[in-house]
Amino acid sequence: MHLEQFNQDFFSFLSSSPTPFHAVKYISDLFQKNGFKQLFENRTWDTRAGEGYYCVRDNGTIIGIKLAKKSAANAAWRMTGAHTDSPALQLKPIPVRDSNSTTQLCVEVYGGPLLATWFDRDLGIAGRVMCSDEKGTILTCLIDFKRPVAIIPSLAIHLDRDANKEHTVKRQKHLYPLLCHSTNGQEKTFFNDVLLQQIKLEHPDLPVKNILGFDLFCYDTQPPTVTGVHNDFITAGRLDNLVSCFVSAKSLLQNQINDNCLMLCSNHEEIGSSSMAGARGNFLSTVLSRLIPEASDRNMALHDSYFLSLDNAHGVHPNFPEKHDPQHLPLLNHGPVIKYNSNQRYATTSKSAALYKMLASEVDVPVQEFVMNNDLTCGSTIGPIAATNLGIQTVDIGIPSLAMHSIRETSGVKDPYMLYQTISHFYSRSVLPQTEE
Ligand code: ZN
Repeated sequence: MHLEQFNQDFFSFLSSSPTPFHAVKYISDLFQKNGFKQLFENRTWDTRAGEGYYCVRDNGTIIGIKLAKKSAANAAWRMTGAHTDSPALQLKPIPVRDSNSTTQLCVEVYGGPLLATWFDRDLGIAGRVMCSDEKGTILTCLIDFKRPVAIIPSLAIHLDRDANKEHTVKRQKHLYPLLCHSTNGQEKTFFNDVLLQQIKLEHPDLPVKNILGFDLFCYDTQPPTVTGVHNDFITAGRLDNLVSCFVSAKSLLQNQINDNCLMLCSNHEEIGSSSMAGARGNFLSTVLSRLIPEASDRNMALHDSYFLSLDNAHGVHPNFPEKHDPQHLPLLNHGPVIKYNSNQRYATTSKSAALYKMLASEVDVPVQEFVMNNDLTCGSTIGPIAATNLGIQTVDIGIPSLAMHSIRETSGVKDPYMLYQTISHFYSRSVLPQTEE
């Protein structure tokens, strides 16, 4: 697969994945189409060598597995981890209010978005809705309006002359997206007209009686694009971290796989990963215990295994180079970045970095290195969580990007493909080197 085709497929994934639930559905369908079988946590598993499998938890987290044609129970695994969620505005349980003849959405802030970027955008609504049918069954369905249905207009400069000097977004007061002109009985109208109509449109055969609840998010409807006079950049929402989800799923689908391989795409990273579907939960360890039931085999396997934690890195912003450490300035289109932190906010060690550097050099992908400016607080990823919970060698890597957590982020046009080349090689290299203790 070449760069243009790869980016085209990536854009199609991005456009189809306004929420973690949609991203997981897209990856599940991709696995299904390629012969992977679904495993359910509440059923017994009969997995066979050489086959592909996937398992989903709570609609927002997915584990993909490709078993080696031949391997011992205590053989090493090759694993990657990424996250499916991005900062966003999430609808509250009572999701509308009336104000000055308009009906507005009531939202909470999910994760840490750059809030100023959410103003004056054509917002769609998408997510998961729980419904009941006539028989008292609870049904789950995903919806996506796929069109602009809301907007948070800025206050005109004439009414706020200091807007360009200091602009603070007050989360409770300023973040009510406009939905429509108001009519009486708005709550009933939102549930029965807006939500129910959308469910009927997207799922005409679903016997929905009542709506019981939802996890719905606003998102930017502007599609991903290649931009720059020489087409050097990608701009899109949710590049952090759908690029890594797409790369890991695509890499697992190639024919040439050696050792047992696994990819985790996890929900709730942006809010700390503590949930039943988050990386601090027991999903990955439970799946591994079922695949390698004997504890001593599992311990031996994990000792020799590697976990590549994939999450975007901060490329140097040309307007703010002083925000980076002057010796570590990752550039867009110069390849994925290894992230280091001496306090283990990133899980990289010299040993795990050595493996990644070797893999990258073998496929001619350049390596960049990042360490946070000492005066700024370092972010983190699911890498340290995997390293802590599994006792597994972990390296934190990701494509360099700008405007992380903006409603629209920017990356290089070449970097996602270079990450794909490296991760594919990680899964397919004939053997991984084992370093001596
Ligand atoms: Zn991220």
